[in-house]
Amino acid sequence: EHSPAPDPAPVDTHCPYCSLQCGMTLRPTPPDRGSGGTPGSVEVIERTAFPVNRGALCGKGRTAPAVLSSRVRLTEPLVRRPDSGRLEPATWEEALDRIAEGLEATGRAHGRDAVGVFGGGGLTNEKAYALGKFARVVLGTSQIDYNGRFCMSSAAAAHQRAFGLDRGLPFPLADVARTGCVVLVGSNLAETMPPALRYLTELKEAGGRLIVVDPRRTRTAEQADLHLAPRPGTDLALALGLLHLVVAEGRVDEEFVERRTSGWPEARAAAMAHWPELVERITGVPVPDLRKAVTMFCDAENSMVLTARGPEQQSKGTDTVGAWINLCLATGRAGRPLSGYGCLTGQGNGQGGREHGQKADQLPGYRKLADPAARAHVAAVWGVEPDALPGPGRSAYELLDALGRDVRALLLMGSNPLVSAPRAAHVESRLRSLDFLAVADVVLSETAALADVVLPVAQWAEETGTMTNLEGRVILRRAALTPPPGVRTDLSVLSGLAARLGWEKGFPADAEEVFEELRRASAGGPADYSGITYRRIAEEDGVFWPCPENAEETAGTGTEGTKEAEGTHSEGAERPGPHPGTPRLFLDRFATDDGRARFAPVSHRPAAEEPDAAYPVLLTTGRVLAQYQSGAQTRRVAELNEAAPGPYVQLHPLLAERLGAAEGVPIAVVSRRGRAVAPARISRDIRPDTVFMPFHWAGPGRANTVTNPALDPVSRMPEFKVCAVRLELAEG
Ligand code: SF4
Repeated sequence: EHSPAPDPAPVDTHCPYCSLQCGMTLRPTPPDRGSGGTPGSVEVIERTAFPVNRGALCGKGRTAPAVLSSRVRLTEPLVRRPDSGRLEPATWEEALDRIAEGLEATGRAHGRDAVGVFGGGGLTNEKAYALGKFARVVLGTSQIDYNGRFCMSSAAAAHQRAFGLDRGLPFPLADVARTGCVVLVGSNLAETMPPALRYLTELKEAGGRLIVVDPRRTRTAEQADLHLAPRPGTDLALALGLLHLVVAEGRVDEEFVERRTSGWPEARAAAMAHWPELVERITGVPVPDLRKAVTMFCDAENSMVLTARGPEQQSKGTDTVGAWINLCLATGRAGRPLSGYGCLTGQGNGQGGREHGQKADQLPGYRKLADPAARAHVAAVWGVEPDALPGPGRSAYELLDALGRDVRALLLMGSNPLVSAPRAAHVESRLRSLDFLAVADVVLSETAALADVVLPVAQWAEETGTMTNLEGRVILRRAALTPPPGVRTDLSVLSGLAARLGWEKGFPADAEEVFEELRRASAGGPADYSGITYRRIAEEDGVFWPCPENAEETAGTGTEGTKEAEGTHSEGAERPGPHPGTPRLFLDRFATDDGRARFAPVSHRPAAEEPDAAYPVLLTTGRVLAQYQSGAQTRRVAELNEAAPGPYVQLHPLLAERLGAAEGVPIAVVSRRGRAVAPARISRDIRPDTVFMPFHWAGPGRANTVTNPALDPVSRMPEFKVCAVRLELAEG
């Protein structure tokens, strides 16, 4: 007789979804426990010790294990058979051979740049790093980008331009509760990352003020002391109008501007051309509300501007974010504790995903691919000559647009562009025109269904890897389960393909081994991870970058580098031992060559597509509480589907009356690119000139069929947030 095996130990890890990367504990459920316990299932337990969410989870995180044991998850590779034309089960050997042959044959016939790679902002740092390396040294292609380009790239570009360094939040999220006034621009965090709402609640409880900028009265806007509802596409003019009033009312922090910035005269002149009455005409925000906002923002001793996709997903997204940064700089709200500008990144690894080389113009450590010193450093780590590294490639939408023409084979990992890309019907036709498409995913997403080969890969709870959350905190997701038989990790896929494609220097499949290489590749770069180890992350529950291995080194970022400083304002990291990591950036100097933040001399310009007689209404798109991104995972969870079963068109009663539409009737939203049909949801919480659609679904209600791929000239971000449409009553 022997006693039963002990229950598997609980594992501390993080949610698979958004950039908050909420901490949670997973308890593997043994098969004999009753209550439906099956191999491969886990229970989610609150983990209050993780400081970002302090135990709180939204419904998406709480129900994430359902996808692990979902009937529809992929557990064997699929290969499209020429005779049937259908995807049918195959062995891993056959599937990997087919991919290697498909990519190699295309490269041979049409050149290396005819092979593309498309990644995702949800991939771990290790995967993002390995994917970038795979594209550049194994495939030798410049054509790699990822869906993070659709997420926060405008904020990243504006951050770089103003501060010389891009880290979404240059301070811990907890600082938000301790400032005096927060301007939240185009973020509905009550629905997108609900546990973060507590920081705004604490802010208000402590007497702080909240201003929300959003064309809709969202659940987040309901919490605001002041809600400004500009016409979509006019956030830039709004920021300029506020800056105009700051100048006119003598609220400029002249000493800060003089000591720590450059470019103020030009930025000031641009703002002065946007007088309040003009801004009211452009934005629809009344002048008294502009004045109230300036008073709240400037009366507080400390204040912050936080942006999200609203101002960023515009064809002028970089300049729009730049205008909000200008407001912070002119008022001295930057480069000091409890004040500043930050971006609330969206995807789980939106931050780390853009740092380690899956972006078209970047190498690991947030280095620039075009920089000879960066190329030399990374090439040495990879064991190749710098000249062997390709140059920058196309941005995400441009890459998708080139499919079937210049780019004829594609390897896609962690993304579902058929739902999430703008002008999605066109993107779908480009994907269909490829000579060869291989997709690695956990379910048969809409994009995977078009592939020649589909690889079933492990999920978040089945593999270990690091993520970098919206604060620049590098955290460790630990495996709590082994993947089902037939499923492999993304890293193992890349390793297997590299071997087949003749890469003889070794391509590790072990996450920690990849991270060790990433540390070396990032050393000395802007996003320096060289002092971060798995052991340290585990012991400290996250480490903020930059964190050089040599504690003597400073990244030139004017940082506050004390781990324990998360709740304090003590300066400096002057102590022996390993570098403590950097919760707060820019306290003494910005990361520009001269240490000064740079104003951007920006002016309002209209959206790429303005309403006209044929398309008289504005469309804006966004997310809902119970679904995540393209819905590939969350649409497979019954509880979430019940809460958010499908798309809808939110419209004002005045617009509904003009159209003759009643609640729930199907409405066609038609743009120059196509039509999406979804039931009407009539509400006074939206401007009468605007309709809103969430974008998580495929099929007739796919919002991105309608959206405009006009690109920001700097960030190459498409204009998801505004386009011109007409409305029609659709057949029920
Ligand atoms: Fe997961 Fe984001 Fe929800 Fe937290 S807020 S549980 S990270 S989806």
